[in-house]
Amino acid sequence: MTSRERTTSPLRAHYDTVVIGGGPAGSTVAGLLARAGHDVALVERARFPRFSVGESLIPATYDVLERLGMIDRLRASSFVEKHSVQFISERGRESAPFYFRETDPSERSQTWQVERAAFDQMLLDNARDLGADVHDETAVTEVLLDGNDGEARASGIRVRRADGESQEVSASVVVDASGRRSLIARKLGLRYGDPLLKMAAMFTHFEGGQRGEGIDEGATLIIHTEDQNGWVWYIPMPNNRVSVGVVGPIHHLIQGRQGDPQKVFDEEIARCPGVRPRLESARQAMPIQVLNDFSYRSRQAAGHGWALAGDAYGFLDPMYSTGVLLALKSGEMVADAVDGGLRAGELTPARLGAFQPRLDAGIESFRRLVYAFYDKRFSFADFLKSTPEHRGAVVDILVGDVFDRDFEPLFGAMEELIPNFGPGAAAADAEARAAASSTVTNEVALA
Ligand SMILES: Cc1cc2nc3c(=O)[nH]c(=O)nc-3n(C[C@H](O)[C@H](O)[C@H](O)COP(=O)(O)OP(=O)(O)OC[C@H]3O[C@@H](n4cnc5c(N)ncnc54)[C@H](O)[C@@H]3O)c2cc1C
Repeated sequence: MTSRERTTSPLRAHYDTVVIGGGPAGSTVAGLLARAGHDVALVERARFPRFSVGESLIPATYDVLERLGMIDRLRASSFVEKHSVQFISERGRESAPFYFRETDPSERSQTWQVERAAFDQMLLDNARDLGADVHDETAVTEVLLDGNDGEARASGIRVRRADGESQEVSASVVVDASGRRSLIARKLGLRYGDPLLKMAAMFTHFEGGQRGEGIDEGATLIIHTEDQNGWVWYIPMPNNRVSVGVVGPIHHLIQGRQGDPQKVFDEEIARCPGVRPRLESARQAMPIQVLNDFSYRSRQAAGHGWALAGDAYGFLDPMYSTGVLLALKSGEMVADAVDGGLRAGELTPARLGAFQPRLDAGIESFRRLVYAFYDKRFSFADFLKSTPEHRGAVVDILVGDVFDRDFEPLFGAMEELIPNFGPGAAAADAEARAAASSTVTNEVALA
């Protein structure tokens, strides 16, 4: 897939909205706002297309992708069709696949395993086609904020363009979709980590890994390592590749571990009977990459003249592949809030951030299922054997159908089985929020 003609011209001096970052969140916000008739610039630091982790979509992405007009392009792409998720135990025992169509037999229950460089390029091109003024190779060096806490007012950005020149651009609204950099939340001290999800990930691609057949060819596998201290994702990709990543507590994968990331990765795969045979005749196709401490949230999703979308607001955990869904969904929520705010001439925190409780409630459902998985007392197989009536609710969460839903019966039943799992999601969140200003997310790329 080739990138469209690159915009090298300067940005204009003023826009209704500037969007920082050209990932799924930024492209969604910029595309929807431009289509609604607003004057939008999107600035992206990297030269596109660029690599990104996060290749497995979940079906609930469908609605936003449909609204963006992307479904036909995805159907015509070479991305791998994904119909299910399957869990494999530390001894290599396979659960029955969780087919998404179990709760909804429509076409919306099929989704894709994507190559993110190509997928993100498609979304960025789409934002441009919808009317956004897109500039890649243009880094935001400063968000112009009057104040240094949640009450701060945004008035624009300063950028460094591809030609090396600096430029100041004013805007009625600044949307931060800068991903894990989360420029605004960091600057305003709004970011807090999740004390129960201090995780690291080491990942790469292989060529030629084994995959299932027919409808199972594109299944995501989630595989426990022998000591259950970590798990491995196994994602069939286009071009005969598989994406393989090891995830586990930072203290297990990084601290107190001898050797470079490749050695640690190899050791973890060696102690994962569910994945070893699948990679026997495969060839590693790129160096190991490392990310850590990636679970965090911002106390506010919006302020005076600014809003956060996607990872710039928060990221939960790679476990159920929820990142791109939350980027698209929060991007849509931000676009609608900014559209309403610009029309009403009211760019207040209350107006721009009205979506936050709905978004947080959805994230909370994912989070409780993530906590359950990391609790060694919990097994999906045992839980669903004793309470099969909850299978539909589990599938709904794996699909990503979490907005405006009540999963209390499911979590109540889990709580009975594993009392105080993840010592109570709400209590942990309150504690982390209180410590927000002292918690720093320390992302490192070791490779
Ligand atoms: C280990 C791991 C595995 C994951 N696996 C999955 C998965 O299987 N499925 C899934 O759905 N999600 C997954 N995710 C999450 C997913 O990758 C992210 O949630 C998703 O990419 C977020 O999209 P975004 O648009 O918010 O941010 P991004 O995709 O990160 O985009 C942000 C953009 O902002 C740009 N930017 C940053 N700073 C600046 C600046 N100063 N100026 C201009 N531009 C800037 C960046 O270059 C980048 O292009 C995973 C995450 C991790 C850590």
